[in-house]
Amino acid sequence: MIYWCPALHCKNPDCPFRETLPIFLPCPIRLETTVSRPDWPRPDWKAFVACRQCGHLYEYTERDIQWGASQELGLWGQNQFVRAELECEQEGCEFPVVVHMFCEKDIPHATLDQKLFESSKQATCSAGHRPSDPLYIKRVVGLGDL
Ligand SMILES: [Zn+2]
Ligand SMILES: [Zn+2]
Repeated sequence: MIYWCPALHCKNPDCPFRETLPIFLPCPIRLETTVSRPDWPRPDWKAFVACRQCGHLYEYTERDIQWGASQELGLWGQNQFVRAELECEQEGCEFPVVVHMFCEKDIPHATLDQKLFESSKQATCSAGHRPSDPLYIKRVVGLGDL
């Protein structure tokens, strides 16, 4: 069966994989392409998402999502969409700097941390603060929904 499959295409024009390896998003609703695509995510969704290929980080919104068709053969068995929370530079600020990345499930811990470090410097917390220097990752979780 063929399912609707939402993805982002890296906004870096020089990214070598922007067309061939999109950033797949964890849509919890599986709908076949014979019906209209899911009403997902919420219209005000936006997030910083890092490209695992080129390392560039951009803020994406619901309008950046492109819907394709996929058989999803092992897509989420082999890969994950992670949410990383980093400490923000402002002492006492309640908001973490949140960065997302689509990556292999078996990526070594140190490699994932390194990729997050390289990509996260341009991200901000909800109050507009940059990540702390040096960067500190508070936690990383796999997401099943945005
Ligand atoms: Zn890229
Ligand atoms: Zn902050």
